[in-house]
Amino acid sequence: MSHTTDFTHSGVSRFPDRDLGVTRFHCEVGVPLADQKHLGHNRWHPDIPPLHEVGLGDEVILEAGGYDDYQLKDVDDDQDVHDFDLTRTHPMTGPISVDGVKAGDLLVVDVLDIQPLSGIGYSNILPGMGGPLASWFPKGYKTVWDLHGTSATSRQIPGVEIPALSHPGVIGVAPSHELLEQWNTREDPLIEQGLAAPRSDARSTAVLRTLEGDDWARVAETAARTVPPRENGGNLDIKNLSRGSRVYFPVFVDGGLLSTGDFHFAEGDGEITWNAIEMDGVGWYRFDVIKGGMAKYGVRTPMLKPSPIDPNFGARYLTFTGLSAAGTEQKYLDATMAAVQAVEQAIEYLGKFGYTPEQAYTIISVAPCEMHIGGIVDIPNAAVTLKVPLDIFDQDILPR
Ligand code: ZN
Repeated sequence: MSHTTDFTHSGVSRFPDRDLGVTRFHCEVGVPLADQKHLGHNRWHPDIPPLHEVGLGDEVILEAGGYDDYQLKDVDDDQDVHDFDLTRTHPMTGPISVDGVKAGDLLVVDVLDIQPLSGIGYSNILPGMGGPLASWFPKGYKTVWDLHGTSATSRQIPGVEIPALSHPGVIGVAPSHELLEQWNTREDPLIEQGLAAPRSDARSTAVLRTLEGDDWARVAETAARTVPPRENGGNLDIKNLSRGSRVYFPVFVDGGLLSTGDFHFAEGDGEITWNAIEMDGVGWYRFDVIKGGMAKYGVRTPMLKPSPIDPNFGARYLTFTGLSAAGTEQKYLDATMAAVQAVEQAIEYLGKFGYTPEQAYTIISVAPCEMHIGGIVDIPNAAVTLKVPLDIFDQDILPR
């Protein structure tokens, strides 16, 4: 039976699917990772068997399903958003073991290209999910995007065209056993309070490549969820980690063991709804090493040289500001509150131009908006700026 019948725009990869002389791992469009387990995993653990071994200087092309693991459908009905099983995120392809890379090195990863796989993208407001503004949108909201190469449009948000700034939301190396134990120890109290993604309660949906039986159970017990970014990278959600960027990962286990997925067509800084324009995608990577780089440069978390490719808006933005104070509420140098205040201001403003709160919230989360910290020293108020590009709208949104 074909699994692809729900994907009306699928069938043609927009990435040239020909012999590029580069090893390529294919993801079957529409098929959950559990039904193509050989391809990867959806938890972090050092004992997941590598998908492939490469040498220094080698390239590899990795396809992966979107963060939703093909739960979302290209239909206007949003029942899929309500039935969404978060424990199936994120299907990652890998791990790739790099010969000659040892713990303590820096793994250098060049992101040579990122493209859509099926040509459809999703941006959802998941009911109850998505950080500081979740309580505003208890009903959830679904947006389906048509990806047109350099830009995306959606029937749910007419009059807006989002330029591509495609990147892997998730890219990371395996933790060591010691590092994994640290993560679990520090996150467990938050899991208890419902403030971090559950681990043991979510074991049944763990996909750990070819591991089965007792091996699967042992690894699934302690394997970390992919929701937060950590020292290994992972769900970094950095919009400028796009084509042409170079990432330096601290290496915790021999071979590095790099995995990637959660491809985004475009995203705004902060990914405020918890969704970018999410897509299944293709990543093309090249590997190198800096021996002993962790100690040599004092690196504990990934660094990157961002993509030289960026939508060119010049000064054509409207910049909103937010503070760690509003009305009678006052927080001390709280950059998160300031960021949320800037987003709330932008949602209210865009409402004057006909966008519903759901549409405006989604636009801010998926368009290449820039969010910068103005200051976190001017006690007691932090100040954050949110730059919204003017050119994505088919109307003039400047005040007159
Ligand atoms: Zn994502």
